[in-house]
Amino acid sequence: MAGEPLGMLSACATGEAIGSGELDGAECLAFWAERAGDETLNAYLWTGPDDGGQRIAGAPVAVKDIFCTEGLPTTAGSRILDGYAPPFDATAVTRLRAAGLPVLGKTNMDEFAMGSSNENSAYGPVLNPWDRTRVPGGSSGGSAAAVAAGAAPWALGTDTGGSIRQPAALCGIVGLKPTYGAVSRFGMIAFASSLDQCGTFGHSVADAAELLSVVEGLDPRDSTSTGIPGGLSRPTASDLEGITVGVPRNFLEVGVEQGVADRFAEALKTVERLGGTIRDIELPHAELGISAYYVIAPAEASTNLSRYDGVRYGLRVPADDLVEMYERTRGEGFGPEVKRRIMLGTYALSSGYYDQYYGTAQKVRTLIVRDFEAAFSEVDLIATPTTPGVAFELGAKTSDPWSMYLNDLFTVPMSLAGIPAISIPAGLAAPPEGGPQLPVGLQLAAPAFAEQALIESAHALEAAIGFDERPEGGGDS
Ligand code: GLN
Repeated sequence: MAGEPLGMLSACATGEAIGSGELDGAECLAFWAERAGDETLNAYLWTGPDDGGQRIAGAPVAVKDIFCTEGLPTTAGSRILDGYAPPFDATAVTRLRAAGLPVLGKTNMDEFAMGSSNENSAYGPVLNPWDRTRVPGGSSGGSAAAVAAGAAPWALGTDTGGSIRQPAALCGIVGLKPTYGAVSRFGMIAFASSLDQCGTFGHSVADAAELLSVVEGLDPRDSTSTGIPGGLSRPTASDLEGITVGVPRNFLEVGVEQGVADRFAEALKTVERLGGTIRDIELPHAELGISAYYVIAPAEASTNLSRYDGVRYGLRVPADDLVEMYERTRGEGFGPEVKRRIMLGTYALSSGYYDQYYGTAQKVRTLIVRDFEAAFSEVDLIATPTTPGVAFELGAKTSDPWSMYLNDLFTVPMSLAGIPAISIPAGLAAPPEGGPQLPVGLQLAAPAFAEQALIESAHALEAAIGFDERPEGGGDS
């Protein structure tokens, strides 16, 4: 660790320093607990630390408040889970503890992970550490902002349609969403079960991959879990020799900000400089991804969220009879976006409309899966900008759901196909309206369970891009 300030030490190196006795685990935890407790971005809903007298073998982890943590508040960003402290840990959290990684705090998020800006949290928005008038992205905005601001060494999030990759891009850090099934969903509060997946945030590909290797794995308590066959090892690649990277040009034609397009073009040049080959590909149905997603995800959400009835968890608003109690509890407990999705989803599943909406969306999903299969018969990876634009101003998109949903244009297709994808920083760009420069993300996607190949290439690119900027105050003490 050679004199490097603890806040700048990678999470991997922190674990090694604790392992070798060079760094004291309890001191490390205390350092990060202070950083987490001091942050002013509203990134945390609860800070610990939760050391519980356990063995400390590495850097503590900021955990999105969607993961159940035994005896600790778990709200999923919703009023309806106010006061809920689960009697068990999510499997991902159990795995952290077993690896000697304490929970540093629970991070703020869009209510039930529905959102792209963190403005849908019942506990107030998270601010972007690069510019506090802007959003950090969502729904895992608290996790991304905490890591970017140096208030956590690394973090867990969830990604249903982009909720790890998009905030990672907007906050200038790495976000890794593995293949659907890689990490158990047990104890991860459900939004859209066929899409929800746990993933990781870090300052580097190696850190994000290391944390994923801790939480991934088959879990008998989640029948869709598989783990990553062969596991994950630390990436070592320094070039892209023999790697073909596909670029879906047609898909990218729609409204990408100039600054984002410029950083993306440079990243593709870097791919070639590292010995990789760029090939244009088609993903003919990818542009339908948003439309399909915003039928499928609300449909699954409307079912999953029926369990919040004022009887079993959190908030109860008393009333004279049972039905009125349900209505009042749900009326007061859910925020507007969650209500919108429950209504959309219930409608899409209703008899007479099921085929027209849900059935059609599922067919589109299949076409998108096939698009990726065809593309991956020609290329090893697919590259896109992670988001069409840089971080936008708080309030800029709250009155127009469709413009908010368009943030997910490039991330949703991978979620529908269940394939792994990563966002790495590609540099900075000014927003279209002018002003200070903000982070831009590069997304790389790979075939199912090709995580190792994905992180190898991302690691080589990350080193060549050489992005090492942090927002003011981001970990430099
Ligand atoms: N922004 C998307 C939505 O609102 C994705 C959210 C997510 O991945 N959890 O649904």
